Amino acid sequence: MLQIENLTVTFQGQPTPVIEGLSLTLNRGEVLALVGESGSGKSMTALSLMRLLPTGGEITGGRIRFDGEDVLSLSDRQMNRMRGGRMAMLFQQPQAMLDPTSRVSTHIAEPLQVHRGFGRRAAMERVLDLLREVGIADPAVRARSFSHELSGGMAQRVMIAAALSGDPQMLIADEPTTALDVTVQAQILRLIDEQRRKRNLATLLITHDLAVVAALADRVAVMYAGRIVEEGPAKAVLEKPQHPYTQALMRCSLLVPDQSGQLLSIPGSGSHARELTCGCRFHPRCSAALQHGIASRCMRSEPALETDPDGHWARCWAFETERETAA
Ligand code: ADP
Ligand code: MG
Repeated sequence: MLQIENLTVTFQGQPTPVIEGLSLTLNRGEVLALVGESGSGKSMTALSLMRLLPTGGEITGGRIRFDGEDVLSLSDRQMNRMRGGRMAMLFQQPQAMLDPTSRVSTHIAEPLQVHRGFGRRAAMERVLDLLREVGIADPAVRARSFSHELSGGMAQRVMIAAALSGDPQMLIADEPTTALDVTVQAQILRLIDEQRRKRNLATLLITHDLAVVAALADRVAVMYAGRIVEEGPAKAVLEKPQHPYTQALMRCSLLVPDQSGQLLSIPGSGSHARELTCGCRFHPRCSAALQHGIASRCMRSEPALETDPDGHWARCWAFETERETAA
């Protein structure tokens, strides 16, 4: 359904790309989770797929194929039809995405009319069905509401209804529950997963919550400083993370205070990691780089990638060294 090959994204005035050489595939009905610390490039990846990068951001390399089409060579008009039609996106702040001057019904009816040729009356009827489908009680009342009258959870349900109204094949969800209360988070994730199954949606789920990955994802890709450092079946990556960065993320996600009462976070900062032009971008923060006595190699170059039969790989010398020893 979706193939990203060697995607590179650069911002004007920044010497190094924010995304570099990123490749991913996504099949129908599949959930691919994209995880990584804040600033690693997850949202820019999602926005690239929709060709909605913020001003100054530009796709400077690579290819994106979606359902047989070359996304980067589509005209603006063709791209407009694609967005909200065959591909749809959910964001972290649903309220901010809803026009405060439009009623709920308008947000959902518009894709029906623009992308699917519904007349006004048929669209309004379908709006009520969709609101019911996303679990909104009293759809007729809610259809007339404005966004400020909605709770966060309800606003995200409305966004989901609007996303589904164009009958998409792919759903991109960028931290769709981060801004919501914990109990509402679970409900929204269940709703997304239900619709994914029912509609066989290719789903790119961006999250920093590894429990969510474990519950919903088929595969997971781990991003660090604009690159994917590990990818594989969710079970394999969660149970046997290979890259020291993935291992560190998992330790932090346990969110248990350590002996000194601090919440764990990965030591050091990744904010300048993109500026490293050779070697592994994680090596300054990596304990394995020192432990394995391979620090100089980690500074100089990255290993050639080898993939396990189940599709699990990691961009790490320690992992490669282990494989060589085992072989
Ligand atoms: P994530 O979603 O993983 O937290 P983002 O994809 O939003 O990270 O951002 C990746 C990097 O892109 C950031 O570290 C930042 O340096 C850069 N970036 C994001 N938005 C902009 C922008 N509007 N202008 C310039 N650089 C940006
Ligand atoms: Mg983000």
